[in-house]
Amino acid sequence: MKTTITGGAGFIGSHLTDYLLAEGDEVTVLDDLSTGSLDNLAEALDSESFSFIEGSVLDQEAVRRAVAGADRVFHLAAAVGVQLIVEQPLQSLRTNIHGTENVLNAALAEDAVLVLASTSEVYGKNASDSLDEEADRILGSALKSRWTYAGAKGIDEAFAHAYWSELGLKVAIVRLFNTVGPRQTGRYGMVVPNLVGQALAGAPLTVFGDGLQSRCFSYVGDVVPALVRLSGQESAFGQAFNLGGAQEVSILELAERIVERTGSDSSITLVPYEQAYAPGYEDMRRRVPNNSKANGLIGFVPGTNVDRIIDLVAEDLRQRGSLEARLMGKPGALAPLAAAG
Ligand code: UDP
Repeated sequence: MKTTITGGAGFIGSHLTDYLLAEGDEVTVLDDLSTGSLDNLAEALDSESFSFIEGSVLDQEAVRRAVAGADRVFHLAAAVGVQLIVEQPLQSLRTNIHGTENVLNAALAEDAVLVLASTSEVYGKNASDSLDEEADRILGSALKSRWTYAGAKGIDEAFAHAYWSELGLKVAIVRLFNTVGPRQTGRYGMVVPNLVGQALAGAPLTVFGDGLQSRCFSYVGDVVPALVRLSGQESAFGQAFNLGGAQEVSILELAERIVERTGSDSSITLVPYEQAYAPGYEDMRRRVPNNSKANGLIGFVPGTNVDRIIDLVAEDLRQRGSLEARLMGKPGALAPLAAAG
């Protein structure tokens, strides 16, 4: 099988690349290395079945080249991370809307199956204790840059659905809920690598707000096989699927567990949102997936619990020489976040 992965040098994309190479696929990655890194593809680059194209999804020619001859495409390239979205809304909107349109067109031209990565952010502030795929989207003002990610991904989903219903594109949409694991960087504000890095560096763990906001973290090793299984299901086309974790945990509890599991001496500091992001920043209180649809179709079970995820992320950061851990853990590492507009 010939597979193209946009954003394949990123955190989830590189795990997917390794998984598919191990399954015997020929894999082509298109990535502009803006937030991804070739370090993530160290193993893949040794494989004869692997090719890498450095380029943006905004470059139609590069997208066409990357998708030429592909049987299936996973579209993971996106501007991600709250910090990046808030700081660079224009570039994020362009990448996340026009880039996706380029990938939809290329997949259609090749008659390839497409799996489009969307996000639990599309549900916005809907705090239901079981968000299913039909749940309402509750978003703040379109003028707040914080909501541009959810807005753009919502448009992407609508585009994908219309390409399926009007043009016959074989596309499945996945809504990823706080996917975490080794190789994820804390540089763009993601909480798990950020806090684990701080704990390993002995720096205070920065918990934003009152810390009682909660998330259901899912492990990349559970999510990647689900992406692949969905790509093989005809009945998945034209549909969206939640892929999230099973265990709801508050950020404060997450921080406490991280301190405990890493054996760190770090304290936990509550940082007001307006200091962490920008005045008027709106956070989601909770975000709880209902995974029944993916469970019913492909048997998706998010089996890796939070403690195990913490252990795996800590091990990864330690192994990587903890450069990132040291950087993110330094007091003052919050400075760029505080400047976010
Ligand atoms: N967060 C935190 N400390 C950090 C980074 C993030 O308390 O150093 C919080 C953030 O405000 C949010 C949660 O952790 O409530 C998850 O943040 P992340 O950016 O990982 O994902 P989100 O769910 O916001 O997309």
